[in-house]
Amino acid sequence: MGMKTYADFHRHSLDDRDAFWAEQAKRIDWQTPPQQVCDTSRPPFARWFVGGTTNLCHNAVDRHAAARPDDAALIWVSTEVGREIVYSFAQLHDEVQTMAAMLQAQGVGEGDRVLIYMPMIPEAAFAMLACARIGAIHSVVFGGFASVSLASRIDDAAPKLIVSADAGSRGGKVVPYKPLLDEAITLAAHKPERVLMVDRGLAAFTPVAGRDLDYAALRAQHAGAQVPVVWLESNRISYTLYTSGTTGKPKGVQRDVGGYAVALATSMDYIFGGKAGETYFSTSDIGWVVGHSYIVYGPLIAGMATLMYEGLPINPDAAIWWSLVEKYKVTVMFSAPTAVRVLKKHDPALLKRHDLSSLRALFLAGEPLDEPTGRWIAEGLSVPIIDNYWQTETGWPLLTVAHHIPGVAPVPTRFGSPGVPMYGYDVQLLDEQTGEPLTEANQKGVLTIAHPLPPGCLQTVWGDDERFVRTYWSSVPGKQVYSTFDWGLRDEDGYTFILGRTDDVINVAGHRLGTREIEECISSHGAIAEVAVVGVADQLKGQVALAFVVLRDPAQSSPALEAEVLKHVDCQLGAVARPARVHFVSVLPKTRSGKLLRRALQAVAEGRDPGDLTTLDDPGALAQVRELLGR
Ligand code: ATP
Ligand code: MG
Repeated sequence: MGMKTYADFHRHSLDDRDAFWAEQAKRIDWQTPPQQVCDTSRPPFARWFVGGTTNLCHNAVDRHAAARPDDAALIWVSTEVGREIVYSFAQLHDEVQTMAAMLQAQGVGEGDRVLIYMPMIPEAAFAMLACARIGAIHSVVFGGFASVSLASRIDDAAPKLIVSADAGSRGGKVVPYKPLLDEAITLAAHKPERVLMVDRGLAAFTPVAGRDLDYAALRAQHAGAQVPVVWLESNRISYTLYTSGTTGKPKGVQRDVGGYAVALATSMDYIFGGKAGETYFSTSDIGWVVGHSYIVYGPLIAGMATLMYEGLPINPDAAIWWSLVEKYKVTVMFSAPTAVRVLKKHDPALLKRHDLSSLRALFLAGEPLDEPTGRWIAEGLSVPIIDNYWQTETGWPLLTVAHHIPGVAPVPTRFGSPGVPMYGYDVQLLDEQTGEPLTEANQKGVLTIAHPLPPGCLQTVWGDDERFVRTYWSSVPGKQVYSTFDWGLRDEDGYTFILGRTDDVINVAGHRLGTREIEECISSHGAIAEVAVVGVADQLKGQVALAFVVLRDPAQSSPALEAEVLKHVDCQLGAVARPARVHFVSVLPKTRSGKLLRRALQAVAEGRDPGDLTTLDDPGALAQVRELLGR
């Protein structure tokens, strides 16, 4: 029997949508089976597995604890505090029930919000799973957000209880959380009734009487607690989570229970090829969607051990990740291009120091994977590098290559492209002007998804259905399409290339250029580690490009190098794409999740107010640009 093509498989997932997903739904345990696979009666909303009852925590923990209690479930490694702990499924089951009992004792129940503001410690995962267990809605806020950003998220989620810790640690430096949290609660209009504090003994603090609770004391009190899972209708809310805020004010993404569990279970198999008993290592943070889908829920639902790492990728040296791959026999790894660019500043020999024979693939997502970075890591590690494109909103990859579908020929990877539309996603490239689907290859269009979004995607914007419809579904009048706000292009073979965000286009004397294209070109120059290109207003040309460049060796910065980079762009893209200036900086402004904040660079360069900077990682990066440009 011959292999089906992936294109046929994808077609089947759309044409026989309900049959396809009904089959996938068997991957998880249901207390009551779903009565309807997909309810599309109220577009653009979609409801998956209507009437079915299930539970994320049961599927991630209980069912494995019953079958393989002693297998590793959560491996925690902190190079910050020098500790490693391996929790088996049975131990994880105990810890989660204990935490669930604590939450219930504080009156937290179904539908109540719990805000989690935590460093990368096991208790953060316990808290998420404990919420899932009892039907409380978690809202994880990246630990390290300052008090103003945290306050606005407290007001949005209106949590009954907040779980937090005394401090995180970054590069050996203690980062106290508690003062930020106290200030945020003071600033917020909504006051949580309780704050559950994990005291790591890193930063002394004074508990607020009557509000703050001590985790260790309550853990002792509730040790051995048995808390049955609460079976939830598939469309109940599992969690809310904010987008990175790269293009403006973050959006509160709301997700369901059953659709998410099914989507993750399917992706763990078809896309990641992860198997029960193996180890998955995602270098992300629980504060981001990758941390939700592929540190906590996805690997555990698949019965894998998940490796949770607290620390920098370069501490004690830039081989730390690879030493963990060797030690814990990691089979599937997930990281981001931004992290690889950090490693790229270090000796490539470090990529070869450890035995990586267990590792089958490294998945990268979050930002465009430029070719030099992709090749550097692929050659250095000698494992397949798999780019995958998705969003906080989608919850799981939208474009990539699925290599593990039985009976289906794998789609080869192609440098520069994350791949092809994943099963379940009816991806359409639309002409920006007419809203009509692009029929020819190599035309640039807006990447959209036709209604209904597949399982696992956002249900709505938390508390704001109107914003959901207006933000995502209104870009093509008269059509039910979800806009990703990214530009795409499809080549002759059906590979999609991401050309940047729809608001990252510049117009130089009538020529429309994606800043991404210019960045790609500049980054192919050997001296350059990182680059950001933005368009700034220009009286003569409408807009001109400005490039901000981080060199691999800062000592190389010189007018001669600037001229060389400009000439490089001339040769590769043409004079029209040539930036007006190349500025050398030591660091680029990024979101906390490591994405380039082009809008802030652009605003500063144009002397405007940079807007919402609550997600900016290092304020020094913008200060440097201001100084450079005399703003
Ligand atoms: P906001 O929506 O608040 O502006 P954000 O879009 O950066 O922030 P995320 O959901 O974290 O928030 O990021 C999703 C976006 O990241 C995608 O829309 C896309 O622009 C970019 N992206 C993710 N993965 C890839 C990839 N593999 N290649 C290119 N771009 C990617
Ligand atoms: Mg976005």
